[in-house]
Order: sequence, then C-alpha cells, then structure tokens
Amino acid sequence: MHTRSHDHMHDGGDSTMEFGKVTRMLSSKLNESLVVYKSAVKPGYVYKFYRVKENEYQCCRCKELGKFRSIRVVDDIVVGRKNPEEEHHPDCFPVPESCVLAAEVDREM
Ligand SMILES: [Zn+2]
Repeated sequence: MHTRSHDHMHDGGDSTMEFGKVTRMLSSKLNESLVVYKSAVKPGYVYKFYRVKENEYQCCRCKELGKFRSIRVVDDIVVGRKNPEEEHHPDCFPVPESCVLAAEVDREM
C-alpha cells in the first residue's frame, strides 16, 4: 500500500502552522512593540508579548517569572510549530483582556 499522506509530517520538515491574529499595542514610553494574543482556551483572556527581535515576541509574564517563552509573529499572525498558549511558566496565566487595555491607557496618561 502506498498511501503516504502529506498530513503526517512528523519527521522534522517545516510544519509551520498559523495560530491566529494578535492585536498590536504601542507602548509610547518604552518605545517597544507589544502584541496581545487572545486565548482560545479562556475566552476574554489574553497573553501579552513584547518584541525582542524582528518577528520574535516574548511573553511578558514568563519573563517576570524567569522563563523565556517566545512566539513568532508575521503580518500580525502567530506562526510556528507550537500553540502559543502552551509551554508557559506554570505560574503564567492569561489576564483578562479588559485589564490589559485599561493598564495601557493608564500608562499613557
Ligand atoms: Zn507566559
């Protein structure tokens, strides 16, 4: 039987996937780019990432906890092999969306 499916790319290869859009926020004070990824597991909750390199963004909360968890963002879409919600620090949880937006407004005032 020669039923080799292209769906089974388990041996390396470039199996990049897309995980949905991020929302961009500009932090005027820090002069750096922040993106917010909406959790699919917890609707209404988000993860915050800030830019470390061209297309690489690091989870803010994980950094505070001493873990490096980064994602790749291309054209506002999270791309990569892993779900951006996985492999965070055990104490890193998404925060309520309203909380993040409110904090940003506060900071600019
Ligand atoms: Zn995290």
